[in-house]
Amino acid sequence: MTAQPPINGKRRKATIERVLSVNAEINLYHLKLEGQHDFSFLPGQFVMVILKDKEGKEVRRAYSIASSPLEKGHIELCVKKYQDGKLSPLLFKMKKGGQLDIEGPYGRYVLQAPLPGEIACIAAGTGIAPIMSMIRTMAASSFPVMTTLYYGFRYPHDFIYRDELLSYAQQHPTFQAIPTISTKEDIDWDGSRGYVQDIAKERISSGNLGSSIHAYLCGPPGMVESAKKMLLDIGMRKEDIFREQWE
Ligand SMILES: Cc1cc2nc3c(=O)[nH]c(=O)nc-3n(C[C@H](O)[C@H](O)[C@H](O)COP(=O)(O)OP(=O)(O)OC[C@H]3O[C@@H](n4cnc5c(N)ncnc54)[C@H](O)[C@@H]3O)c2cc1C
Repeated sequence: MTAQPPINGKRRKATIERVLSVNAEINLYHLKLEGQHDFSFLPGQFVMVILKDKEGKEVRRAYSIASSPLEKGHIELCVKKYQDGKLSPLLFKMKKGGQLDIEGPYGRYVLQAPLPGEIACIAAGTGIAPIMSMIRTMAASSFPVMTTLYYGFRYPHDFIYRDELLSYAQQHPTFQAIPTISTKEDIDWDGSRGYVQDIAKERISSGNLGSSIHAYLCGPPGMVESAKKMLLDIGMRKEDIFREQWE
């Protein structure tokens, strides 16, 4: 049985250890937490990041933890910048050594244990973050069950975690990554094209659904709703579909 996800409203200081730029809109942040030793979470959970705006007013936003709980010493967040947003532009101004507050972990969207016979993950954009925590956790035990990631984004340069995901796929016969671009522009790309839920539908319905498959969906609400409907239509049980969503 899945352990009860640890929910902890404790607020603690975090220091930015490292900032990695994926592209102009996406950064990865490695945060060292005060009292990290007593910070435990399950793959899929999120933290609240708390920063002060120009007027000194606190702004709070949720960010999924992209690192695995097995990775000790820091947590990783994968953040998209909204030009006119309240919190993400503040975070994008911060550098190594910068301090912020976090609260958590929160959330019941977690990797279920024991693992089922097979796992399908359908993610779009930064929706890869909580799924990455699950994938990294399973990678540490060589993907004990067949796991397929359907990952959608607009352009090839939006493929977050490209090298890491492709290397897992190369190393582990039980992990497959199907990256998909949604732009209709005629650009160089040798992967799938179209909406990620449509690509997943083609593959999942043409394959064998199997008796025990879990699906993890994460991305914008439209994509998550449509992927959920697709999975129910092809016969998946509602209780085997796990979702998280944000714009
Ligand atoms: C459980 C959970 C996990 C999440 N995990 C991640 C993650 O891993 N990575 C990630 O990048 N994000 C994640 N998010 C989203 C994140 O919490 C923020 O919503 C996001 O970063 C935007 O915050 P912001 O303050 O920068 O922008 P906001 O100030 O929230 O604005 C976002 C956009 O909405 C527009 N907007 C704001 N108010 C209005 C309004 N009244 N009318 C019309 N438009 C408006 C803004 O102009 C902007 O374009 C998650 C959300 C949830 C709920």
